[in-house]
Amino acid sequence: MPVMSGKCLCGQVHYEANAEPVAMMACHCKTCQRHSGTAFSTLVVVPRETMNVTGNLKTYTEPGGMSGEPMHRRFCPDCGSPVLLEREGSPRVIIPAGTLDDTSFVKPSMNIFCESAQSWVPMSPDTQNFPRYT
Ligand SMILES: [Zn+2]
Ligand SMILES: [Zn+2]
Repeated sequence: MPVMSGKCLCGQVHYEANAEPVAMMACHCKTCQRHSGTAFSTLVVVPRETMNVTGNLKTYTEPGGMSGEPMHRRFCPDCGSPVLLEREGSPRVIIPAGTLDDTSFVKPSMNIFCESAQSWVPMSPDTQNFPRYT
């Protein structure tokens, strides 16, 4: 039984991850806003080796990324859903939480890049809120 599974909007790409999340966060960086088309990305981080993806993904690589390392943003070429984010050289992969089949366990413990958060988005006092993130 995988711990989590998900798919893109059209279902061409689906995945399973056999791990508890390493971290869960909401990212308010301008890049995530543009990539997702909305105010922030809700992200679930898992170890790379636990992730099994089926289907064809297209990759857009941000040269510097927000962290300074290239960031690979992988998405379904048919429907455009963002399915995976991978920072170059990282042992972890990042799942945009909206693609998960079951989101009941999702609860970000931090907000990152709050300095570019949209003004209407309230920040919870129960999370760690960082202006940026390194
Ligand atoms: Zn798709
Ligand atoms: Zn971001």
